[in-house]
Amino acid sequence: MLKTMKPQHPQGDLTLFLQALNFSAGKHRDQRRKDSAASPYINHPIEVACLLWTVGGVHDEAAILAAILHDTIEDTDTTPEEIRTRFGDDVLGLVLEMSDDKSLPKQERKRKQIVHSPRLSLRAKQIKLADKICNVHDIAFSPPEGWPLARRIDYLQWAREVIDGLRGANALLEERFDETLVLARQKLASESDGSP
Ligand code: ZN
Repeated sequence: MLKTMKPQHPQGDLTLFLQALNFSAGKHRDQRRKDSAASPYINHPIEVACLLWTVGGVHDEAAILAAILHDTIEDTDTTPEEIRTRFGDDVLGLVLEMSDDKSLPKQERKRKQIVHSPRLSLRAKQIKLADKICNVHDIAFSPPEGWPLARRIDYLQWAREVIDGLRGANALLEERFDETLVLARQKLASESDGSP
């Protein structure tokens, strides 16, 4: 049976998705993750979008585009206008919800994430969940170079507080977050024991 199709972006049309990938890859092209392998930064938003779709069952185009773009405003020279022109207001709104105000000191930004997480829109909560799953995993298994154990333990605690503020947004992603946190804590505990 034929589905009703929107004139510009029929269901299954990958145009905007590919444009978002292309745009984000270009914007993040000079950035690397802070792990010892210095992975290309773009791996991270791709992983976030992939978790949303495959684990969270979030099959919403704007949410997936926003996941691909979620760090462009915060971490690159991307302006809100660029996102709006290419991907529309809906996607821009989600990306802005995912963006910390870099003019604030780091501790203040982290505190604000805890305070704001209950007030995010449902889709932003889902993207935040996928983002924190990736980050918690990375902090444990491919940590930023030079981070002492105590800082990594603090990160896990902080991420948990952010996520505790938005529970109820997506049971599958929350379950994956909890599992990832258990594994991450085990990994850090084993490092503090000195066991392999
Ligand atoms: Zn991120």
